[in-house]
Amino acid sequence: MTRLILPAILLVSAIVFRGYAVDLPPEYGLILRGLPWVVIAITLALTVWFNRSLQCSAALVLLMTLGLVNVELQSPLNQTAPLAAFGFLSVTVPVCLLLIISLPERGLRSVRGILVGVIAPGIMGLGYGLLKLLPGNTVFESWVSAMPVRPWPGYILSWQASILFGCTLLIGLLLRRRHDGVIPAIIVLSAVFLMLALFDRALISTFMICAAGLGLIIVLLQGARDLAYRDELTGLPGRRALNERLKGLGKQYVIAMLDVDHFKKFNDTHGHDMGDEVLKMVARHIARIKGGGLPYRFGGEEFCVVFPGRDIEYSHPFLEQLRSDIENYSMSLRNHAQRPRDPEQGAQRRGRRAGNRGIQAVSVTISIGLAEPNENGNTPAVVMKAADTALYRAKKNGRNCLAW
Ligand code: GH3
Ligand code: MG
Ligand code: MG
Repeated sequence: MTRLILPAILLVSAIVFRGYAVDLPPEYGLILRGLPWVVIAITLALTVWFNRSLQCSAALVLLMTLGLVNVELQSPLNQTAPLAAFGFLSVTVPVCLLLIISLPERGLRSVRGILVGVIAPGIMGLGYGLLKLLPGNTVFESWVSAMPVRPWPGYILSWQASILFGCTLLIGLLLRRRHDGVIPAIIVLSAVFLMLALFDRALISTFMICAAGLGLIIVLLQGARDLAYRDELTGLPGRRALNERLKGLGKQYVIAMLDVDHFKKFNDTHGHDMGDEVLKMVARHIARIKGGGLPYRFGGEEFCVVFPGRDIEYSHPFLEQLRSDIENYSMSLRNHAQRPRDPEQGAQRRGRRAGNRGIQAVSVTISIGLAEPNENGNTPAVVMKAADTALYRAKKNGRNCLAW
C-alpha cells in the first residue's frame, strides 16, 4: 500500500496546482499542452528500458486516453460525438486496466511480453476504430449517450461508469500483492477517473495525465531501487541496504547477527523449497521486531538487526522475544520432498499420519549474537565482527539463545 502514497500525493497536488494554472498567461498554454506528451514519452521510454510490459501497457492506455481527449473531446459534451468518446473512455479505460491487473509480467524482450504490453491499448484502439467505423446510431453510441453524464453538480461521470471504476479499484486492491500490474493500473485508473469526473474543469486532463505519468515513473524507480536494495526471497532489505545504513550510524548502536540453527539439516530433510518457506517465515518475524530494530537479510540463513542509538541492555529483551516467537511458531508444510512416487505407498503413509495428507508441522530455532561499540568507538565493521563472534558463542552454548 505504501507504494501508492507518493502517486496519491501527486494526484492531489495536481488537482490543487490546476486551480492556480488556470490563471497563468496564455503563453504558458503551449507548454501545458505539450507537457503530458513529454511525460508519457519519458514514461514509455523508461518502461522499455526497465523491461516492464505491464507498466508499458498502462502508459500506452494513458497515451491513448490523451490522444482521444485531444482529438474528440475538445467540444462541449452535449454534442453526440464528444459524448460518445467520453462514454467510450469511461467504459474502456477501467476494462483495459482490469486486463492489465490480471495479466502476468513478461518483460518486453519476447513476443509474449510485447503481446502483454500491447493487448490492453490494442483493445482500446480496436474499440475506438469500431466506434468510428460504425457512426450514427450504433448500439454503443446510443448506450453511452443514454448514461446520465452529470449525476451531481461538478461531477460529470455517469453512475454506471463510476461503479465500473470503483469495482476495478476494489479488485486491484484485493489482488495487490499478487500481480505486478496492480499499482500502475490503480494509478492510471485514479487519474482517468478524476479527469472524467471533473471534466468540466479547465486543464484537468493535462494535470491528471501528467500526474499519472509521473506516478508510473516513481513506481518504476521504486522497482529499480528494490532490485538493488531488497532481498527477493524474503522481501527484507538486503546486504547492500545494510552497508548503507552502517555508514550513517552514530556513536551508540547495537548490531545483532541472527542465524537459523541446523538449517543445512532442515534443507536435507525437507528439501530446499521448504527451507525457503522457513526463511520467509523467519524473515516475517524479524520484520516485526519491536524497539526500533531495523531488519536485514545478511545472506543465506543469516539475518541482521540494527538498533541505532540503543545499547545491548535496551535491545536484548526485544531479540529474546523474537527468538522465543520463532521457537514457538509451528509451520504447516506440505512435504513434497518426501512424497513417495508410488501412489499406493503414499496412501499408506497418509493413513499412518491420520489423514493429514502429507502436511507436516515443523518449527525452527535461531541463535543471536549481539555487539555494540566500545568506549574507543570502534567502527561498524568491527562491531559486526564482534556480533559474529558472539553468535558463534551462542551456537557453542547450545543454540536457540542470545550471547553478547
Ligand atoms: P548452524 O546451527 O551451526 O548454523 O548450522 P547450519 O546447518 O544452519 O549452518 P550452515 O552454515 O552449515 O548451513 C547453512 C545452510 O543454509 C546451507 C545452505 O544450504 C542453506 N541456505 C543458505 N541460503 C539458503 C536459501 O536461500 N534457501 C535455502 N533453502 N537454504 C539456504
Ligand atoms: Mg550460517
Ligand atoms: Mg545456521
